[in-house]
Amino acid sequence: MSGAFRLDGRVAVVTGAASGIGAATARVLAEAGADVVAAWYPADPHDVRPTRAAVEDAGRRCLVVEVDVSDTDAVDAMVAQALDSFGRLDVVVANAAIARDVPSPDLDDERWQALLDVDLTGVFRCFRAAVPHMIEAGFGRLLATSSIAGAHQGWARHAHYTTAKAGLVGLVRTLAVELGPHGITANAIAPGVIETPQSLDPVNSLGPEGVRAFAGRVPVGRNGQPEDIAYTFLFLASEEASYVTGQVLLVDGGVSLSL
Ligand code: NAD
Repeated sequence: MSGAFRLDGRVAVVTGAASGIGAATARVLAEAGADVVAAWYPADPHDVRPTRAAVEDAGRRCLVVEVDVSDTDAVDAMVAQALDSFGRLDVVVANAAIARDVPSPDLDDERWQALLDVDLTGVFRCFRAAVPHMIEAGFGRLLATSSIAGAHQGWARHAHYTTAKAGLVGLVRTLAVELGPHGITANAIAPGVIETPQSLDPVNSLGPEGVRAFAGRVPVGRNGQPEDIAYTFLFLASEEASYVTGQVLLVDGGVSLSL
């Protein structure tokens, strides 16, 4: 198929692919022509089968891989499986993360490090494993899910989360500078509030009522849907975005603009 923003012949790894933004991104990238490695975390109560079905319904191949992004060996194995199965790896959407509500005085080293290990180091592990193959191929798209919280604003009782999400800003800037000469771009999206299991969790995030109330503050008149982020990832993954690098794109329906 021809046209802009196509990924025909490309292979994309998406972490957190069994739910929310990751599931939508896996489907949207497949609809644009990519074969997809749907990396999911079985310790969570998500079902990866609908993601596989969506990729296959789009006519693309789907490799389902279990991964814990806090485990270097598991991440390296995920990339090795992708290369074994598809022979190439063009796009990494390092999207998996956790949010935990903890007042800062209670944020002990263990909880701090456990979250950073998933939300920040977990992203770097995915990129690091893929980069040698991208350098060899002369093409790559390193994509991360940051957040409005951390990249643009604070979020009370989420100091570890916002630190990790702000850390991704530095990560994509440096990788953009370092890897640009190899045809590799590195970018992140900072979503506003998107209706997913994370934001709908009443313990660690806004919960259903909070999410509903939040929509009233958003200039475009609704909360974000996973597809709003997925289509932005598609743009950043495309050939046409080759001049966009080191950026953190705020996709928030304009909510950060109003007082
Ligand atoms: P989600 O909870 O549905 O997705 C997170 C995914 O990460 C889940 O599939 C989960 O199983 C996976 N995961 C958790 N720990 C993992 C681990 N150790 N290894 C591998 N995978 C693991 O929620 P979502 O909103 O789709 O989250 C996707 C991304 O979007 C996250 O980075 C999140 O921080 C970010 N984000 C979400 C919002 C929002 O409002 N929903 C806003 C800003 C940023």
